[in-house]
Amino acid sequence: MDWASQINIKTPAEIALMREAGRVNAAVLAAVRELLQPGVTTADLDAAAEAVLRSYGAVSPFKGYGHPPFPNSITVSINEELVHGIPNPKRKLRAGDIVSVDCGTLLNGFVADSAFTAGVGEISPLARKLLQVTEGALYAGIDKMRVGNRTGDVSAAIQQYVESHGFHVVREYTGHGVGRQMHEGPQVPNYGVAGRGFPLRPGMTIALEPMVQVGTPATRVLADQWTVISADRSLTAHFEHSVAVTEGEPLILTVL
Ligand code: MG
Ligand code: MG
Repeated sequence: MDWASQINIKTPAEIALMREAGRVNAAVLAAVRELLQPGVTTADLDAAAEAVLRSYGAVSPFKGYGHPPFPNSITVSINEELVHGIPNPKRKLRAGDIVSVDCGTLLNGFVADSAFTAGVGEISPLARKLLQVTEGALYAGIDKMRVGNRTGDVSAAIQQYVESHGFHVVREYTGHGVGRQMHEGPQVPNYGVAGRGFPLRPGMTIALEPMVQVGTPATRVLADQWTVISADRSLTAHFEHSVAVTEGEPLILTVL
């Protein structure tokens, strides 16, 4: 994609519509989070997400996306699986797992995109630290989403936060503009140099999504052509919010 030409500044009315999609997306993720228990399958999580989406007259832009077409409404990625895991009726959650759930909501012509990672039952101290650092990196990035900054300031804040805690940011998958399309410009990597990149302007809407791994920044894709894992199979985590740049504070769109 030509990221620069795909930056679409939204009007306040359009941001209000995105906020509605974001509320629905948050409701979907809250419903899925409630179900995280041993024995629940990742297909159960997808079914619950679909039910909430349907109740709002919304659909997920994930379904049918890409090649081969993604078959479900959410992605569910466990432990060394970083992103894009395919829900499966045979895959049961186990105590100690950390589960990343990513959902998109298409409502009124606009997309919201958000993800979280959470533990099933008791998780290890390392897993707990990984979740705290990855979520902390998301908020460090959001705090840079201000007029006067550039996308590189956001990227650098995420990278520095993660690396200062001894973990690694993934290079192959990045944050992105979001709006009428799930992926618009600008691209916002989870690594970068402060002061570089695109200037942030009011009305820009960006999905920030730190993807963090314990052992290595390297990833690989499994034979299903979707599931991305850490190359060394170390633990991974992923948090994401869709955020609007305003004249003032950053506006998180994907909360209730
Ligand atoms: Mg996402
Ligand atoms: Mg995204």
